[in-house]
Amino acid sequence: MEGLDGRVVDAVERLGDAGRAMLREAAKGEGLSVTQAQLLLRVTTAGAGPQSTGSFARWLEVSAPTVSDAAAALVRKGLLESVPDVTDTRRSAWVPTGAGREVAGRLHGWRDPLVAGLAACSPEDRATALRVLLEAVASLNRTGRITVARTCLTCRFLREEAPDGRAGDWCGLLGAPLAAADLRVDCPEHLPAGN
Ligand code: SF4
Repeated sequence: MEGLDGRVVDAVERLGDAGRAMLREAAKGEGLSVTQAQLLLRVTTAGAGPQSTGSFARWLEVSAPTVSDAAAALVRKGLLESVPDVTDTRRSAWVPTGAGREVAGRLHGWRDPLVAGLAACSPEDRATALRVLLEAVASLNRTGRITVARTCLTCRFLREEAPDGRAGDWCGLLGAPLAAADLRVDCPEHLPAGN
């Protein structure tokens, strides 16, 4: 029998394959490519704000021309519009239109079957799984295989103990403990460790 680590990776790979297929199906139902759907989902995520081509490209780990093509198609479809990029006014950033938000609202349900599949696990097991997966993401981030990882375990604000010396993860920015179930995967306040 294959070792535990290999089986964990196999299971993650299988979930990834299923997730990609489900997202592809949801995107197709809206007449979008997977990249177009990902852009729309990204720009309508709470707290995401306007996204530049560069930030999209880093997030999706694809080239800037790929993002430009997908964004241009979404503009033609009336789902995205460009605004000046506040970090560099010579460039554009992308925000959703009202129609784009409606489409994204339907697309956001693509992963509901995956979430429903977790219902059989206890909250403790789910929290442990989150911690384990984020450890793996942090490792890939440290070795340069994932460039964007806005997670607690890659964040400069993460502390290994509270200010009063109690052991356990602590967010120095929020001034709050971080139980395994509280660890964030896409935190708007994240700053990469080491910066
Ligand atoms: S700022 Fe966000 S990502 Fe960083 S440790 Fe705090 S909650 Fe986690």
